[in-house]
Amino acid sequence: MGFLDISCLVLGLKSRKMVAEIAQLPQKSKENYVETKKFFAKLKKRQPKNLDYIMQELHEAEFERTDCLKCANCCKTTGPLFTNADIERISKHFRQKPQAFIEQYLRFDEDKDYVLQQVPCAFLGADNYCSIYEVRPKACREFPHTDRKKFHQLTNLTLKNVAICPAAFNIVEAMKKRIGG
Ligand code: SF4
Ligand code: SF4
Repeated sequence: MGFLDISCLVLGLKSRKMVAEIAQLPQKSKENYVETKKFFAKLKKRQPKNLDYIMQELHEAEFERTDCLKCANCCKTTGPLFTNADIERISKHFRQKPQAFIEQYLRFDEDKDYVLQQVPCAFLGADNYCSIYEVRPKACREFPHTDRKKFHQLTNLTLKNVAICPAAFNIVEAMKKRIGG
């Protein structure tokens, strides 16, 4: 077996591991839901002084291990909110009028925010690459928001994201160990 064959085998095994991890995520996050909710409630009341630093460290360590191209579960199952600035930028990229872009790809959700008409996202390729990566929505760039400042203000959102994003799940579990759950 040549070097290329071995690396293909390793890549195949990693992809299968990620598929299994994603499949288990709804159940695992459900099992941890009450504990995580309590942990976040405590965090909201009282945060360590260096919370931003801790989150940055945990986020970076997790994304050194996690390859989003083997996952794309966020793009396949939820998709982002589109701000007006996102719509302007992306429609310009397609040389389309913003209204034409909206009619082709977006709808209002129950909060009157623009979201995708359907998932998986129309801009996601079969290889899990984003075809509008350079101009993608801000929410896509920031997902899963685990390195955002004042993370304790994003805990309700994160409670949802841990059921979608294996990296967010691992980061929250690592937080509980580090800060004390
Ligand atoms: S951000 Fe999370 S859900 Fe999205 S591709 Fe990366 S690991 Fe998967
Ligand atoms: S725009 Fe790109 S990054 Fe955002 S959901 Fe679609 S494929 Fe994923």
